[in-house]
Amino acid sequence: YEDRDGTIWMDGKLVPWRDANVHLLTHALHYASSVFEGERCYNGTIFESVKHSERLKKSGQLLDMDIPWTIEEIEQAKYDMLKANGWDNAYVRAIAWRGAGDDMGVAANRNPVRLAVAGWEWGNYYGDAKTKGARLDISKWKRPSPETIPCQAKAAGLYMICTMSKHAAEAKGCSDAMMFDYRGYVAEATGANIFFVKDGEVHTPKPDCFLNGITRQTVIGMLEDRQIKVNERHIEPSELEGFEQCWLTGTAAEVTPVGRIGDYNFEVGTMTREIADAYETLVRS
Ligand code: PMP
Repeated sequence: YEDRDGTIWMDGKLVPWRDANVHLLTHALHYASSVFEGERCYNGTIFESVKHSERLKKSGQLLDMDIPWTIEEIEQAKYDMLKANGWDNAYVRAIAWRGAGDDMGVAANRNPVRLAVAGWEWGNYYGDAKTKGARLDISKWKRPSPETIPCQAKAAGLYMICTMSKHAAEAKGCSDAMMFDYRGYVAEATGANIFFVKDGEVHTPKPDCFLNGITRQTVIGMLEDRQIKVNERHIEPSELEGFEQCWLTGTAAEVTPVGRIGDYNFEVGTMTREIADAYETLVRS
């Protein structure tokens, strides 16, 4: 991703792709003082763009890091970047971090908070699992307690266990891993929320220690519009056996059916297909 043509917005300027670099002594690289967003632009419009910019600002605040740009400026930056690259359809990555500065220790109040917006063309996050149904491994890593980390922030530090979980899953031929939370309840995948279907109702973990995804909230609204009951609650591992359908939601994942988690199988059923199709239509409308 480093050596290619393109344009990235960095601290208020559009810079050539290859020049969008940071110094080795960037605080974020040493101490994970970084928050980011993943968004998708469909036919020239970023889906729920303002919600993503607001979450970025909030994630910064949760890390005691005020991003020195307004929502309007972040919105402008995203569209300027897309225009400079000539993209109508792209994944958008906004990222804010503590840069290099006068502090090299853990405290970093004298280091600037920086912001960049990049993008790239990204097809199906889970490849052909998008239609066939993804296979998920079960991770040995647990989503941490809200007392140990600001779990509602989309912060780089929360992804260390996700990368390890996903690597372990891919080594077993799976697309991703499902993670339990610190109490042992079903939580989410490494970059997407999870839903289950049983007897015509939907069950999804209560997002009390992981990201309440923007796609998740959109999909809950779509289900409610269809008068389908959504149960947001704690889900025990023993319940996996009884669920009929399962899907993941996320900006990158969109709505991806799940065919298998560990040894439990799910059908790619009517409700899963309907919600996946309706989401596709909604984001492009
Ligand atoms: N959980 C995690 C860990 C994620 O990285 C993401 C992707 N941002 C999600 C859930 C889904 O969030 P969203 O629907 O806002 O993309």
